[in-house]
Amino acid sequence: MTPTTKSQSRKNAWRIFNFQSVASMAVIVAAVFPAMLLDDRSLALASVLAAAAVVLGLSLFSSTRLMRLIEGCHDKIATLTTHDDLTGLPNRRWFFDRLDEEVDRAGRYGNALSMIMIDIDHFKDVNNSFGHPLGDLALAEVARLIAANVRTSDIVARYGGEEFVVLLPETTAERASRAAEKLRIVVEVNDISLEGPEVKVTISCGVAEIGALPKAGKARDSFILAADKALTRAKENGRNQVIEFTA
Ligand code: GH3
Ligand code: MG
Ligand code: MG
Repeated sequence: MTPTTKSQSRKNAWRIFNFQSVASMAVIVAAVFPAMLLDDRSLALASVLAAAAVVLGLSLFSSTRLMRLIEGCHDKIATLTTHDDLTGLPNRRWFFDRLDEEVDRAGRYGNALSMIMIDIDHFKDVNNSFGHPLGDLALAEVARLIAANVRTSDIVARYGGEEFVVLLPETTAERASRAAEKLRIVVEVNDISLEGPEVKVTISCGVAEIGALPKAGKARDSFILAADKALTRAKENGRNQVIEFTA
């Protein structure tokens, strides 16, 4: 959690505590002092009991708000450990967990499962020409374009620096290649600079289908390796293209 988020949470906790204390004190003063002056003992007792009930209610209200605050902090921490700050996409660690699940499922039920490994072409040049801050914006925009142009059942993550990965359950290599080609075109035709000078980038994609791989070694590792090899071939062939893995 960032220092700003921490101090904000602390402030909110104090605000809840202050509200609880001031409101409780006000209720107690409002009930106890008049009760002390009352001659009628049962009326005095009723007034004190009513005050106690209100204070209890206030405590319950404050506790609920505190619990919500803690839950919010937990959610933020969970998001920070599984998501990438710059692009908002899930990170590599989260992706590997999902990958294991999907590889397992595909193995058990014999479903198709494909992967697209994506790398932005000559991204070093973008940083060198426009500076890192604009490079960051460009990176986030490519991530947004990728996430916006896949199916909701597909799993997108930031794999590394300027590398992304899409896992496509129930999808053959042929269909995954078509999806990758769509992504390639979307990135190519879009001006990805959100401000300042026009920045255009292209991506290279490596596609692999787990069922089409030779059965050797750990399925997950061979799967990634195959997509990576196809990506390397796309780079070697001149970039801005989609290559499907062939053994
Ligand atoms: P290629 O077409 O071969 O992939 O060329 P490339 O320049 O993209 O390849 P390389 O892997 O050598 O460089 C990747 C660059 O991506 C270098 C690094 O500074 C940049 N990069 C990685 N992560 C970030 C980031 O979070 N923000 C910015 N601005 N740049 C990043
Ligand atoms: Mg690159
Ligand atoms: Mg790279």
